[in-house]
Amino acid sequence: MRDGILTIDLASIQRNWHAMCRQLKPGTECGAVIKASAYGLGSERVAPSLYAAGCRSFFVATVDEGVSARAYLPRNATLYVLAGVGRGREADCLSRGLVPVLFTVEQLQRWRELAGSAPCAIKVDTGMTRLGLDLGVFERLCDERQLLLDCNPILFMSHLACADEPEHPLNSHQLQRFQWALEKMRTLCPEIRLSLANSSGICLGEDWQFDLVRPGAALYGVNPQPGASSIVEPVVELRLPIIQVRDVPRAGVSVGYSATYTLERPARLAVALGGYADGIHRIVGSDGFGILAGRRVPVVGRISMDSTIFDITEVPVEQLPPAGGGHIQVLGPSLDVDEVSARVGALGYETLTSLGDRYHRRYVE
Ligand SMILES: *Cc1c(COP(=O)(O)O)cnc(C)c1O
Repeated sequence: MRDGILTIDLASIQRNWHAMCRQLKPGTECGAVIKASAYGLGSERVAPSLYAAGCRSFFVATVDEGVSARAYLPRNATLYVLAGVGRGREADCLSRGLVPVLFTVEQLQRWRELAGSAPCAIKVDTGMTRLGLDLGVFERLCDERQLLLDCNPILFMSHLACADEPEHPLNSHQLQRFQWALEKMRTLCPEIRLSLANSSGICLGEDWQFDLVRPGAALYGVNPQPGASSIVEPVVELRLPIIQVRDVPRAGVSVGYSATYTLERPARLAVALGGYADGIHRIVGSDGFGILAGRRVPVVGRISMDSTIFDITEVPVEQLPPAGGGHIQVLGPSLDVDEVSARVGALGYETLTSLGDRYHRRYVE
């Protein structure tokens, strides 16, 4: 079987990184989040491209991701591990020069014991209620001083919950709490650097940017300002090969599992390789469409694990690909990741990270 072709434009990712840099006030550094294999696009290709573009601070989710990333990122790239350091993983952080983001007292105590003077980052919770020290606990640690100082924190951070909704009151609440906490942190470590904003947070304005920003999604083509015209460009194109074309000569025939769809007229159907195991349910859903010969071709019937059925009746015969060939595009410049994801009620983030590993990946430099 021929595979679907996932084209990933590394030059677009580099231009998107520069586009985010242009949003920053002077002196703010632009990092890059490459967790989950660069949001599904392949961290081993994406990270070196970002490094070549000038990026020097990278964020992964886990120690394992950090260990892999160190193999293709030079030592002068700082690698932060967002999910902290689990018991027993300290040595891997130290040998690879990974900087764990610590957010529990227990992690801080372990880091003090095992890390010598190796640096860490510290994260407080300012309103997302996910990872981060409670502000009360943080205040107590500041009063006690020694534990925080012994851990050698070089970055102080928090994470925004609603940055993609600029009018949401939580944005300024979180900013205020972060400012309260950073005053305390700076009395202990005057030199510590500060980081609050993800992709959308960068667009909230200079007050949210501090010393280092952490864009992920925007680098990969997800619009950081939903509803406004995007400052970043699409990065991925996905084409599914047609593996069978069938002419259905009469109306009333049902299509696909559970016979959920019935043809209302004679039709020509194309079965394309790629199904929910490849993330297609997040892209076309059951009432989405792809593009063949410049025309929209709707999905009919349920999406299967490995295949999806399109109604190509409207494509003129002379424009059909030769028998045994042809592809249907399901992601691309005119089918961008935000638009298709919104149609199925998913986030662009979910769509990218669920693309799966069965595609032939083509990287364009
Ligand atoms: C994933 C993540 C980011 C990147 O967020 P985007 O919305 O993809 O830009 C930044 N910071 C933290 C802590 C994250 O977990």
